[in-house]
Amino acid sequence: MDPRNQDEEVAMRLDGSIGIVTGGAQGIGAATAQRLAREGATVIVTDVLDDKGHALATSLALEGHGVSYRHLDVTDEAAWEALVSEVRAEHGRLSFVVNNAGIGTLEGVEDETVEGWQRTTDINQKGVFLGMKHGGRAIRESGGGAIVNLSSIFGAVGGFGGSIAYHASKGAVRLMTKSAAIAWAKQGVRVNSVHPGFIDTPMIEQVKDSPVGEVLTASTPMGRLGRPEEIAAAIAFLVSDDASYMTGSEVYVDGGWTAQ
Ligand code: NAD
Repeated sequence: MDPRNQDEEVAMRLDGSIGIVTGGAQGIGAATAQRLAREGATVIVTDVLDDKGHALATSLALEGHGVSYRHLDVTDEAAWEALVSEVRAEHGRLSFVVNNAGIGTLEGVEDETVEGWQRTTDINQKGVFLGMKHGGRAIRESGGGAIVNLSSIFGAVGGFGGSIAYHASKGAVRLMTKSAAIAWAKQGVRVNSVHPGFIDTPMIEQVKDSPVGEVLTASTPMGRLGRPEEIAAAIAFLVSDDASYMTGSEVYVDGGWTAQ
């Protein structure tokens, strides 16, 4: 069966909600910003790729969606505090944060450097911690909402035995999600993680047409890469009230990869 047509009508499940998507200039983040906006949310797209982020926000705004762009390096705590204050001052509340920003690494246990490890940990792990800390508090004080953290299939299993820092950071995201979910379970802040398989975004561009790329497709039971829109659909569900009894859950969108 073909992947769902992205131009199909979607339900307006997020009308009146306002939230932040990190790393939203391209890939899964951009597809998520678009999907959430199409469902009626006001979306603040953030990234460090300012030209791409502005271009995406402008094109979605021209289609009539409530989307704007702000520069946010997810590792910068002061910048997180400033952004959350600005959103609350402008919109009066915060309903959701999608902690999507991340970097991929390939180095295995013998090849990874301490610098590489630290950079991956800073962006993929500390970035999610800061998004939950500052975004989650604002969501709680706004009366409740949802946080979705992007982990990976590599946050749950050892994969091909490489990418040691990436596995560590994504495993941390999986468990930080559960810790925060329990902390806020009675306070209306739901926190869930999404675990994509191999998705056709700029992140895997470097390996897509190489033998490694062939392995990604061949090792996936469905025999193809996923589309960013297929991850965005799961994220939109978790942000919406359709997921009102889900917190601390991990949702795999991986073409069957972890079922093997
Ligand atoms: P991508 O590289 O296309 O996009 C990631 C975005 O994050 C980029 O726009 C980048 O500029 C941004 N970013 C990087 N460092 C940042 C920082 N310090 N502050 C703010 N933004 C920063 O990647 P993608 O494939 O769209 O991945 C999105 C998320 O999904 C990542 O967390 C990734 O680990 C995860 N994921 C992707 C795949 C995949 O196969 N593509 C699989 C599993 C998980």
